[in-house]
Amino acid sequence: MTNTSNNIDGRALRAWLHEFARQVAENSDHLTALDSEIGDADHGSNMHRGMAAAVAAIDADPDAGPGPLLKLVGRTLVSTVGGAAGPLYGTLFLRMAAAAGDTGPLDAAGFAKALRAGLEGVVARGRTEIGDKTMVDALAPAVDALERELAAGAVLDTALAAAALAAAAGRDDTAGRVARKGRASYLGERSIGHQDPGSASATLLVEAAAAALGTVDGQA
Ligand code: ADP
Ligand code: MG
Repeated sequence: MTNTSNNIDGRALRAWLHEFARQVAENSDHLTALDSEIGDADHGSNMHRGMAAAVAAIDADPDAGPGPLLKLVGRTLVSTVGGAAGPLYGTLFLRMAAAAGDTGPLDAAGFAKALRAGLEGVVARGRTEIGDKTMVDALAPAVDALERELAAGAVLDTALAAAALAAAAGRDDTAGRVARKGRASYLGERSIGHQDPGSASATLLVEAAAAALGTVDGQA
């Protein structure tokens, strides 16, 4: 969907969340295969169940603006997804919602600020940091790239494309790392050589943003 306005409104955010749900569904088997190597083979099904429920929840509330929409997604993920990823993605969206507030559309800087708050929520809740071989290894470089590009005057389209590339690079980098958090950490050194499933789903989140929000004009 092309959004030519300056704002990321409820409609644009819905497009992002629908696109993320679509990409998760399409990649569910792949995410589960990654989790079967260093976890318990449920990351794809967890995320698929959660995002299907999240999309159903936002479709049932067509008038919700950006903040309430993000809150609904966060609450739905927390309540429908077991394991580590549900509460962590739930926290990401709930913190984004708090940063977005109830005041209406976000501009590009507001979106970046909300994503930064979401990332900080995941780091705090997961008691983790970059390099631990988790979803943070994709999210943190993506948020850094988004902020850097916007600060340099890039439009949102360009900034999100850079963020998606940074997420994918962070995801790929997890293969060479030892897992320090979550189930994969039980494997210690044996986790090396396997990509982290959460970093793969987090990359889909950023790629979905680039696909669905990238046409929004970043110059508010
Ligand atoms: P579970 O590990 O409970 O089976 P999932 O398989 O759905 O849950 O999700 C696993 C993913 O969650 C991992 O690949 C990793 O990216 C992420 N993860 C696990 N623990 C943490 C943590 N403490 N902080 C951040 N991310 C984490
Ligand atoms: Mg798992």
